[in-house]
Amino acid sequence: MWRATVLTLFPELFPGPLDASVLGRGRAEGSWALETVNIRDFSDNKYGSVDDTPAGGGAGLVMRADILAAAIDSVDRAGRPLICLTPRGAPLTQGRARTLSEGAGLIALCGRFEGIDERIFEARGIEEVSIGDFVLAGGEIAAMALIEACVRLLPGVLGSPSSLGEESFEGGLLEYPQYTRPREFEGRAVPDVLLSGDHQKIAEWRRKMAEDITRARRPDLFERFHADGPIRRENNKEPKR
Ligand code: SAM
Repeated sequence: MWRATVLTLFPELFPGPLDASVLGRGRAEGSWALETVNIRDFSDNKYGSVDDTPAGGGAGLVMRADILAAAIDSVDRAGRPLICLTPRGAPLTQGRARTLSEGAGLIALCGRFEGIDERIFEARGIEEVSIGDFVLAGGEIAAMALIEACVRLLPGVLGSPSSLGEESFEGGLLEYPQYTRPREFEGRAVPDVLLSGDHQKIAEWRRKMAEDITRARRPDLFERFHADGPIRRENNKEPKR
């Protein structure tokens, strides 16, 4: 079973939104499992502190490597990557989420305060992942985003897995526009082609819209889409860089 273990100072935040809707049902049905480890349980002092002032001075507090090491070493890694959520990490992509979803699960380390003693990253072979170019107060929401992106790709979790392949990023493009009833909304009609019943034409229109939207909004993705070629597009895999 795909298993996520979260190392955090705030275990009470979990499962939080990960227990809603199809993800929650998937967990209840045994498609995936979630456990938390409270880093504070590995504190070596009566105050339960896990941090200290930064070497060299400066603002804030830094999480201690020895305490994090004890927390990490308490977890059975079972072939799972150890990922620390950090703003300086590799940007999270759909390709990374898909690769992770095909493995045994992951162990997520959530930072707090000013950050984490640098030595732990090499000492425990930690991969760093960022969920965007902004700074959160802690890694918990980032860990939830990472876990959710993986879990919804697990077999049996989503009701309609066929829709997964057409989503934003899956083929290297952003998604085409979606419509439903009513046929007209405040003077805006559903495009005729979508009501034509001609599946070939609909597919062509969607493909063109996906390309137009990607070119306009994410020229970086569009360029990569053309540079990577059809093999990656078909396999939905992480690009080799
Ligand atoms: N001083 C750090 C820096 O400038 O990079 C930011 C520390 S932040 C206040 C505290 C924690 O939030 C980080 O250790 C990390 O775990 C998490 N975090 C903040 N922004 C994040 C992001 N964009 N992606 C992933 N994790 C993030």
